[in-house]
Amino acid sequence: MSFRASVLTLYPEMFPGPLGLSLAGRALEAGTWSLETIQIRDFATDRHRTVDDTPAGGGAGMVMRADVLARTIDHAAPAGDPRPRLLMSPRGRPLTQQRVRELAAGPGVLIVCGRFEGVDQRVIDGRGLEEVSIGDFILSGGEPAALVLLDAVVRLLPGVMGNEASGEEESFENDLLEHPHYTRPQEWEGRSIPEVLVSGNHAKIAAWRRAEAERLTAERRPDLLARRTGSVR
Ligand code: SAH
Repeated sequence: MSFRASVLTLYPEMFPGPLGLSLAGRALEAGTWSLETIQIRDFATDRHRTVDDTPAGGGAGMVMRADVLARTIDHAAPAGDPRPRLLMSPRGRPLTQQRVRELAAGPGVLIVCGRFEGVDQRVIDGRGLEEVSIGDFILSGGEPAALVLLDAVVRLLPGVMGNEASGEEESFENDLLEHPHYTRPQEWEGRSIPEVLVSGNHAKIAAWRRAEAERLTAERRPDLLARRTGSVR
């Protein structure tokens, strides 16, 4: 059973975009996952195919209509569809590698891409949308956020990454940032590769990498270390 992604958007032309290339693109071609885009505008009912309206209470910008979006969602995921329904949103829970892993282990996702000022709260509540943020900044639309989320998920699907082991040592997998990397040439602009890495002593190399990972994490992301010591593992 392959992972099914349905993306609800006003800009289906943005997909698969970067996901049509490299690892994700090959996996898409191989059928490891599938991607369907659904044009929200197709579910508008008036002559002008309106999808948005002015905000209740006044103010700048436009809001995506609950009725049009709900019809799109109901078409894309009829009752009984087991996939989580995500809404890309700066107000959402920040995306983590742990959530990415959970999503990759499931049947797929339905992703709503917001535009304008956002979407009517009633469709978020009425259709049980899980708001997901990709960081504390504002994009012009949910599409780039959906591409980011799908990229992170698809690389974890079985068989997508050539070297499976490389996934386990990566940043965030143990709430640690990854150690630095080096490759040939041995000497570059007067800088050499740390001695221990060319020593051939695997135990020492592992210890050095671990220490570097801990040093970098303490320096740059003390919040991750706090999460580690505070958690049961
Ligand atoms: N007025 C909103 C921002 C709207 S940006 C606010 O202040 O919260 C328009 C759309 O872009 C949003 O509906 C959402 O789908 C998407 N978007 C913007 N920033 C995002 C982020 N950091 N993470 C996920 N989606 C984002």
